Amino acid sequence: MADALRTGEVVKLDRGYPLVRFPDGERLRCEHATALVKGHDQRAVIGDVVSVSVPDAHDKGVIEAIAPRSREFVRKDPTERAVPQVLAANFQRVIVAQPVGEVNLRRLERELVLAFETGAEVTVVLTKADLAASEADTESVVQAVRALAGPDTPVLLVSEADPSSVEAVRRLLAPGTTTVLIGRSGVGKSSLVNMLVGAEVLDVGAVREGDGKGRHTTVSREIVEVPGAGRIVDMPGVRGLGLWDADAGIEAAFSDIEELAASCRFRDCTHEAEPGCAVRAAVELGALPRARYDSYQALRQEAGVVKERREQARRLAREKVSDTKRQRKGASPPPRRKRRS
Ligand code: GDP
Ligand code: ZN
Repeated sequence: MADALRTGEVVKLDRGYPLVRFPDGERLRCEHATALVKGHDQRAVIGDVVSVSVPDAHDKGVIEAIAPRSREFVRKDPTERAVPQVLAANFQRVIVAQPVGEVNLRRLERELVLAFETGAEVTVVLTKADLAASEADTESVVQAVRALAGPDTPVLLVSEADPSSVEAVRRLLAPGTTTVLIGRSGVGKSSLVNMLVGAEVLDVGAVREGDGKGRHTTVSREIVEVPGAGRIVDMPGVRGLGLWDADAGIEAAFSDIEELAASCRFRDCTHEAEPGCAVRAAVELGALPRARYDSYQALRQEAGVVKERREQARRLAREKVSDTKRQRKGASPPPRRKRRS
């Protein structure tokens, strides 16, 4: 007889197999029930709450169901034209990390779009503060990042050389909540987690992601508990951050431009060549940095292409279905008549 289902949380993807942690602390490597994958095309991701059966004499659990998600972090699957890839579920905060001495504002804009799109709280953490050239440099970078991130997004500085610098980060991680950490490999994400935990729970400098093309096995890190605070997970596989649904994220990450756009003469202004465009006027006046305008247009263009491809794929799928139906109708054998003899 099958055991009763147990409820747990996916804390890691272990070479494609979800590692599920149960409330009693036990961790079990699991596979998906065929019905989930074949029937519903569902796969559990980090943060998913799942129902697991544990067949007798079986070394793995079987995920029978995935609970509805309160939130998802989604990018475009880097290997497909129009397929989304969910990287994490059920978190309350996204931390975007970049080294303060090498901040890339264009990349930050993209990371903010993806982070805001999830609807979670967003925080920017600037790492390696000890490596910054000068305090004045750091201050001007922080100013620039604050301007991009907006008034509701805390911007914090941390440094491995000053363990107390992570206290402000720790205070944001409310007990019972999960935080997802994104940022290029090497920016200091695992160092940050280790400082928060106060122990070397993650190998610094160890994880290297695939190139997002071939069938690389992504080495993933596990959701870890920060003592006296919430949980945090350094997210794997974010090297290629292609936009998926991004309208809300772009609106939030570029609220300054969206505000300007409200004054454009045409409601559907593309801010390219229309007369009476308030956005371009702001660029001409120097009130809106041209690089930010370019970045906004490029991200909107990228999101538009993905949307168009998705709709195309949907249309094709619909046509295929109706083709099959038609074929079935046409090819169905004529009603058999009894031969009279
Ligand atoms: P991850 O790939 O984002 O997890 O980055 P790691 O945490 O592995 O850090 C990459 C490298 O940066 C390692 O060599 C760290 O020792 C170094 N590093 C991380 N944080 C700091 C910091 O605050 N100051 C300095 N000087 N080095 C740091
Ligand atoms: Zn306009």
